[in-house]
Amino acid sequence: MIQSKGYAAQSAETDLAPWDFERRDVGTHDVNIEILFCGVCHTDIHLTKNEWFPGLFPMVPGHEIVGRITQIGNHVTKFKVGDLAGVGVMVDSCRHCDECNDGQEQFCATGVQTYNNLGKDGLPVYGGYSSNNVVHERYVHSISEKLYLAAVAPLLCAGITTYSPLRKWNVGKGHKLAVVGLGGLGHLGVKFGLAFGAEVTVLSTSESKREDAKKLGAHHFVVTKNDEEVAAVAKTFDFILDTVAADHDINLYLTMLRTNGTYINVGMPVEPFTVPAFTLASGNKTVTGSGAGGVPETQEMLDFCAEHNIVSDIELINIKDIHTAYDRMLKGDVRYRFVIDMSTL
Ligand code: NAP
Ligand code: ZN
Repeated sequence: MIQSKGYAAQSAETDLAPWDFERRDVGTHDVNIEILFCGVCHTDIHLTKNEWFPGLFPMVPGHEIVGRITQIGNHVTKFKVGDLAGVGVMVDSCRHCDECNDGQEQFCATGVQTYNNLGKDGLPVYGGYSSNNVVHERYVHSISEKLYLAAVAPLLCAGITTYSPLRKWNVGKGHKLAVVGLGGLGHLGVKFGLAFGAEVTVLSTSESKREDAKKLGAHHFVVTKNDEEVAAVAKTFDFILDTVAADHDINLYLTMLRTNGTYINVGMPVEPFTVPAFTLASGNKTVTGSGAGGVPETQEMLDFCAEHNIVSDIELINIKDIHTAYDRMLKGDVRYRFVIDMSTL
C-alpha cells in the first residue's frame, strides 16, 4: 500500500481535519498522481454533511484534481512520469456496458465515484484533498502545460458539468442563454456559453456580482429578487442552465423561457422541484437534467479550454482555510471557485 495524507471528515457531524491513510499500490494500468491542486465543489459540502444520503466515513472529499504523474504501471500507454494529469468525478467503471462503450462512464451501474464509494477491490476510495491518488489510466485526463494549473482544476467537475449539456443541446450563435447562480458551475457555464456564441444573461440572487458578471463577458445581469428586472426578461430565453445548490422554486425561472424553450438543471438541491403540468404544456417547455460528463467528452472539454484559454476564476486557499471556504460557499460568496493549494497540506 502507499501512504497518503489528506483532510477527512470522520463523520457528518465533524469538521474536516488532517488524516493519514493508505492507497492501493500502482497496478499495471494505474498511475500515481502527486496532487498539486484540488477544486472545492459544492458537492463536497452536500456529501460530507450527509445532505443527500448517508456517506461513507472517513471521507476525503475532492473531485477536481490536477497534479503530476510520479509513477506508472507496466501497461500504461497514455502517460509517462512527469506528465500533468487530471481526475474528475469518477475513477472506475465496468468498461463493457452500453454507457462505458458510449463514453458515458459516469452512468455505468457499477461505476466508482472519486470518493464516498468503494473501489472494485471493495476498499473505500478517497478524493483529492490529499497528497496523491492512484487511478486507472482510463479515468485520468491529459492536461495542457499552457494554462494556469490551479485554475484548470475546477474544469474537471464544474467545467465538464456545464460544457456537456450546452454541447448536447447545441447552445450557440442565435441563442439566448441564461445561467442561474454565479458560483463555481455558473461562472464556467457563462464562459462556455460565450465561447459557443450565445447571448448570455446571468440570473443571480447577489447584486454584488453584477460587475463580475460584466467582467466575465456576460451580456446581461438580472437580480432575481428585483421584480422589475425579472418582468423584463419574461419569455426571453431559449435555454436556462440552473446551477443552484440550495433549495429554490424553479417556476420563477420557467416564466423566463420562450415557447419551446429548454430548462437544463445541473444543480443538486435536496428538495424535489414542483412544476405544474400547466407550466410545461403552456409553451411546450422542456425541463431536463445533466450529470457531469464521460471520459472522452471531459478530454474534449479540456482540449477546448486549452485552445480557447478558458480556465476558472479562482481563490487559491491554504487547506487549513477549508472551513471558511465552505461557510462562504453556503452564503453564495464564492469568486468563483476555491482551489486548495495542496502544498499547504
Ligand atoms: P456554488 O459554487 O456554491 O454556487 C452555487 C450558486 O447558487 C451560488 O453562488 C449562488 O449564486 C446561487 N444560489 C445560492 N443559493 C441560492 C438560492 N437560494 N436561490 C437561487 N440561487 C442561489 O456551487 P457549485 O459548486 O457551482 O455547485 C452547484 C450545484 O451543482 C451543487 O448542488 C452541486 O452539488 C451540483 N453539481 C452537480 C453536478 C452534476 O453532475 N449535475 C456536478 C457538480 C456539481 P448567486 O449569488 O449568483 O445567486
Ligand atoms: Zn463537483
